[in-house]
Amino acid sequence: MGSPILEVKDLHVSYGKVEALHGVNLNVGAGRIVTVIGPNGAGKSTMLNGIAGAVPTTASVSGSIGMAGQELTELDVEQRVYHGMCLVPEKRELFATMTVEDNLVLGSYPRYKAREKNYGDQLEVVFELFPRLKERRRQDAGTLSGGERQMLALGRALMAKPKLLMLDEPSLGLAPLIVKEIFHIIVRLKETGVGILLVEQNARAALQAADYAYVLENGEVALEGLASELANDAKVIDTYLGLT
Ligand code: ATP
Repeated sequence: MGSPILEVKDLHVSYGKVEALHGVNLNVGAGRIVTVIGPNGAGKSTMLNGIAGAVPTTASVSGSIGMAGQELTELDVEQRVYHGMCLVPEKRELFATMTVEDNLVLGSYPRYKAREKNYGDQLEVVFELFPRLKERRRQDAGTLSGGERQMLALGRALMAKPKLLMLDEPSLGLAPLIVKEIFHIIVRLKETGVGILLVEQNARAALQAADYAYVLENGEVALEGLASELANDAKVIDTYLGLT
């Protein structure tokens, strides 16, 4: 896989006295899609939030998070974004009364704050990837369809020019045709060299798109391997893919 852009070692996350993640190790390479599948409550969102530095302030986190060889563990969310990681949360968290374009521009804020001259240079790239967002650039985000909202959430993350994109359930609540479109875009993004860490309930689609996969159960990695191998694993088929 070459040297990973994201290297997570022994990640623990506790909510009060309850530990939700019990020492997860995980790597993502540049231009690779790595998926994490597992049942509800396994700790998938907790893992993404722990990596992004976005767990509630009452939670405690230990372990190490490295990006391109740099240790990010002590940094806050915004600093982690500036170092190249971006999380698209399950709830999308768009600004409903702001336009599509203004939501996108907000995604470049960490680059603006770091005084990057060309902080807005991804807007045309995003519009090329999502022509629908360009058509609707003046429309309020709150009036978009579910699929368009997911595109906007993805587009906003791309404005930060990430090296690593973390996606929490991008297919949630979307019609099958839109899910196909979103997965197609995720594969296109990987081809540009971005590393993608994808948490999905839709295990079939996720394993099809991914290069490598982890199965998370009860806050631990129960299984890992090439996505193509896991897609043929009897236990994975039985538990996560249903009858084929
Ligand atoms: P799902 O697929 O249902 O979203 P998940 O695999 O993403 O599940 P998490 O949402 O990470 O799982 O939850 C893991 C465990 O941590 C669960 O037992 C959950 O109740 C608990 N948990 C998550 N967030 C909090 C929180 N803010 N405070 C306390 N407990 C939490």
